[in-house]
Amino acid sequence: MRLALFDGDRLGLVADEKVVDISDLVSAPAEAGPGAAMLMLLGRLDSLKGQIEQRAKSSEPGMSLSEVKLASPLPRPGKILAAPMNYAAHRAEQKASGSVAELGVFLKANSSVIGPGESIQLPYTDRDVDQEGELGIVIGREAKRVSEEEALDYVAGYTCVMDITLKGQELRSTRKSFDTFTPIGPWITTKDEVPNPDDLQLRTWVNSELKQDARTSEMIWGVAKIVAFASSVMTLYPGDVIATGTPAGTCTIKDGDTVACEIEKLGRFEVGVTARDAVPAPRYE
Ligand code: MN
Repeated sequence: MRLALFDGDRLGLVADEKVVDISDLVSAPAEAGPGAAMLMLLGRLDSLKGQIEQRAKSSEPGMSLSEVKLASPLPRPGKILAAPMNYAAHRAEQKASGSVAELGVFLKANSSVIGPGESIQLPYTDRDVDQEGELGIVIGREAKRVSEEEALDYVAGYTCVMDITLKGQELRSTRKSFDTFTPIGPWITTKDEVPNPDDLQLRTWVNSELKQDARTSEMIWGVAKIVAFASSVMTLYPGDVIATGTPAGTCTIKDGDTVACEIEKLGRFEVGVTARDAVPAPRYE
């Protein structure tokens, strides 16, 4: 199943280039904020699966994907974790000293998410920002100290994540948490459609130029190990997202660029880049 948010905060089931509105399956109070319905749906996926599949088979025509505006499927996840230096080739191009095994995982602010068609806001006129395309793991069940063997039982599905990054010496959580620095989309594909998340083609483009083209089989830590490790540090909850690291080919993005990420079985989405509100980097001493 492909689960989307569209036209503001509507829950959708995507199939065959159509979206069927399934918002009635969960009722989240409006004041719970963006994406609350998706978080509830993910937490109850096992019990609602039958009803959702019934909708997919129903004669309800749905709307064409081109007629709706997709939003990020997870506009305000409980938390966003990310694995640094999880591809040897990216580590080599960055001349980085540590790998994920030495560095562990880091947090990105959950206020940094944008969805398809929105724009990354470059914060500074005098600092570079890079794009990083990554496989995103979406948690489906509360997970605390789970083993690598059982880790995938706690996963709801997968999505495409861009881990946008200010270059420099600050901690990763600072450099990667600016508003708009975590585009997530185009929807969540449930894990039953992704039998092997550790072997998917991942590609990113800046404008029409292919910049990253790798397979997730190149990850140093695979999906199960990342989930097991993360859950050994903190409890994971439905809708939490873990970005699994980026392969080689990251590059600087500029005002007016378009960045696209596509992962096999998960779809493709694009965002813009703007320097409209950029200012010289302030000095805090
Ligand atoms: Mn990254």
